[in-house]
Amino acid sequence: SEITEILENIDRRNVDAIIGDLPLDDVSILQTTAAFSFKPRFVNGPPKKVEQEDADLRPQGEASSKDLERRPPIVTIMGHVDHGKTTLLDALRNSQIAAGEFGGITQHIGAFSVELTKGRRVTFLDTPGHAAFASMRARGAKGADIVVLVVAADDGVKEQTAQSIKFAKDANVQLVVAVNKIDKPNADPMRAMRSLLEHDVVVEQLGGDIQCVEVSALQSRNLPALQDALLLQADLMDLKATKKGNVEAVIIESSVIHGIGKVCTLVVSRGTLKKGCVLVAGNSWCRVKTMHDENGKIVLVASPSQPVRVSGWKDELPTPGDLVLEAETVDRAQKAVNLRIEKTMREKADRDWEETKDQRDKARETYLSNRQQLLDRGQRFGSTLRSIVHRNQRMEKDVEDGSPKFRLIVILIRTDVEGTLEAILEILNTYNSEQCKLQLVDFEVGPPTEKDIELAKETGATLYTFNVETTTKIKQRADAAGVQIDSFNVIYRMVEALKGELSARLPKRT
Ligand code: GDP
Repeated sequence: SEITEILENIDRRNVDAIIGDLPLDDVSILQTTAAFSFKPRFVNGPPKKVEQEDADLRPQGEASSKDLERRPPIVTIMGHVDHGKTTLLDALRNSQIAAGEFGGITQHIGAFSVELTKGRRVTFLDTPGHAAFASMRARGAKGADIVVLVVAADDGVKEQTAQSIKFAKDANVQLVVAVNKIDKPNADPMRAMRSLLEHDVVVEQLGGDIQCVEVSALQSRNLPALQDALLLQADLMDLKATKKGNVEAVIIESSVIHGIGKVCTLVVSRGTLKKGCVLVAGNSWCRVKTMHDENGKIVLVASPSQPVRVSGWKDELPTPGDLVLEAETVDRAQKAVNLRIEKTMREKADRDWEETKDQRDKARETYLSNRQQLLDRGQRFGSTLRSIVHRNQRMEKDVEDGSPKFRLIVILIRTDVEGTLEAILEILNTYNSEQCKLQLVDFEVGPPTEKDIELAKETGATLYTFNVETTTKIKQRADAAGVQIDSFNVIYRMVEALKGELSARLPKRT
């Protein structure tokens, strides 16, 4: 009973200390407990990378030059707060509406397209704070081709102007300067231009090669000159893309809209997007259900540089800056998403693995020596097991206010390779709660055996298998013994199932 007492109050960090002080006959119980309490990965080594990389989708290579067609430039407006970015965007958008081009109500979808002279278009990103642009850059994707740097004529370069310049330079994006607010009495455009010099931005007016246009966003003055400058810059950059092949795009904005569901605004970078296309972005996929422009009009096909709001996204919402790739089938898309989710989890496990090296080395030593002692003593596993079962029953009976203090969920795990086992055990470790304990009876690599069924039956465990075949014979055995076998081939689904089990067993709160 003294042992049971210790068992009840056991703190896994103290397990080795306790074992040191006990007579060996009692140790066996503790050893088993210790083995289950310690992260078993100590025994098996770090999680191994499961090579499934080819399940992910890849961007296509360079398009053949004969397929390349001119595409509109993608422009983002940057500059210091209050220098007139929003006003300029509105003026550019309104020039379209004023021209009677569209009758619809403009919505903010994160990007819009303006038709300029000679049927040529420019795509403007209008995401506040340029979150999309920033995260695109962080991911190495080029979100915009041109930055319009807004500098107020009565203020000159300020802190965020300098940041914007650095940003554009780091991202290797071309600058076009708009000196704004020239209508103000104290406006001094030349002074504003000169203030750019110390940031190595030399505008044409001062002998450099960066175009600079003086505008008044508030009065919509000189906007055509700015638009011409953008088209000229685009010509210099010779922006081209193919409309053929699989679609690639970049997420600009994502949100959930009441009545429609998850939507994302994306800008197509290659290919032609249509209803029914299957897309993957981040940890999400989509069969394109509807496409709309910023005027709420339905779009049937979207070509390179065209921004559209797409509905039909499943699972998580993609993040602005995510690369969008087309998949041949829904099945293919789901495979890619599953792989990505697993990769994220594995990367986390890898990081944790690195961070806990010292603890692990010590625990592994303890575990191995305990295990060896157990084997040396010829202790039969069965007797230890009975102790566990006994203890579980006691715990379940241990009531508080008429309801059990906590419930136990007993499981047994079988996986294909050690790496997967490690990853699963790692994750399971984080799902113990005060009211519901997870008890792992055994874990092993390879298909389930008759011994597993016996064990599961004896301990009332559910048998979880991962990526292994269960033979018909074993299935029959399990049926006969009333043992449940749950099979998985995606780690996170297994974790979801377990979490479900755990929360289903939590005592109801009153
Ligand atoms: P943002 O913070 O860069 O987006 O700047 P806003 O577009 O919100 O503009 C800040 C303030 O400057 C607002 O009060 C605008 O009305 C004003 N503003 C913007 N453009 C002009 C302009 O061309 N002339 C004048 N006089 N005021 C402007």
